[in-house]
Amino acid sequence: MRVLNEDQKRFLAESIRDVPDFPKPGILFKDITTLLNNPKAYTLLMDHLSARYNEYDLDYIAGIESRGFIFGAALAAKLGIGFVPVRKKGKLPSATIAEKYALEYGFDEVEIHIDAFNEKVGAKVLLIDDLIATGGTAAAAAKLIQDAKAECVEACFVINLKFLNGEEKLDALAPCYSVLEVL
Ligand code: AMP
Repeated sequence: MRVLNEDQKRFLAESIRDVPDFPKPGILFKDITTLLNNPKAYTLLMDHLSARYNEYDLDYIAGIESRGFIFGAALAAKLGIGFVPVRKKGKLPSATIAEKYALEYGFDEVEIHIDAFNEKVGAKVLLIDDLIATGGTAAAAAKLIQDAKAECVEACFVINLKFLNGEEKLDALAPCYSVLEVL
């Protein structure tokens, strides 16, 4: 189903566990492990994403470390296209390009292999992660896709913490789609 109804969205939302004060006080952590080990929920989500993105004529899916790998790799296999990991600095073994982004305190950095899209200029890439909060990670990943001369056709999230306005950081980079929104 390309569009989920309200009952299906509620079912998915209820399959995700809220863990207060993780990894630090004041953060309500959205724990997707309870969605993953619920076969009805995981299958519903993956069927929805494959129905939606089947129509996009994508070349690759880029997933953000580490929970973006779980959804991204499964979706890429369902669509019969390649998967590209966007990793934290220092994890990828071959030549990389990197993008820094600001955290609450300090900086972090994400990388992809320079040849991740097989030098296919204009390759159509879907970026995926489990959750968008402030949007810094996803914006850096979308910039990496552009730097590799591919096109980030959409950024997809299972959960969008809307109250943090993370989508705004993606405004100039890619349209944003979220399966579930937390207002
Ligand atoms: P951000 O760059 O602020 O949008 O943070 C997004 C990244 O941090 C994603 O990879 C999420 O998996 C993780 N993240 C941030 N906040 C939460 C949260 N409340 N619950 C679960 N994961 C989170």
